[in-house]
Amino acid sequence: MTDVDNQINKLNEEFMNRRDFLVKEGVVIDNIPQGRSLEIVKILNLKTKTRIHIDMNLNHEEDVKDKMVIEEINIKDKKLNLLPLISQDILIKFIEEYKVIEEFKPELPKFIEDILICTNSKCITKNCTSNSNLSKFRVINKSPLLLRCVYCESKFNMTNLKLNIP
Ligand SMILES: [Zn+2]
Repeated sequence: MTDVDNQINKLNEEFMNRRDFLVKEGVVIDNIPQGRSLEIVKILNLKTKTRIHIDMNLNHEEDVKDKMVIEEINIKDKKLNLLPLISQDILIKFIEEYKVIEEFKPELPKFIEDILICTNSKCITKNCTSNSNLSKFRVINKSPLLLRCVYCESKFNMTNLKLNIP
């Protein structure tokens, strides 16, 4: 790589890191595992007209991550707090007047309803029709993530979780 290439790369990276501030008001979701931004869009159930900027494959320390800026400030905390189902590292920032006014790590609630599917074939929730959303999990441990189906008591971790999203 030439010096010019290096310089352009550096400028690009700086620009990407400052991009949050090009939005007047909204929510930044940072540290998204590579390629999982669209699942987040579905979990948050955003309005179809909401403007969303997704940066994929950003260099992040030794890792590669995605980042999303949503031009919508009325996203319910209840929805944002489901994001550790995607990753414990996710970081949320609220932006107002081009400034970060709040930054926090989302925290899972004690119980998670509807957004997950119990994959135990004997679970009573399997007998419901496929378009019904009935499911309820208790969060046993937040980090590392461990959940238990309230109905059949099967346990789930980060690797065998199944999200109930289209
Ligand atoms: Zn179950």
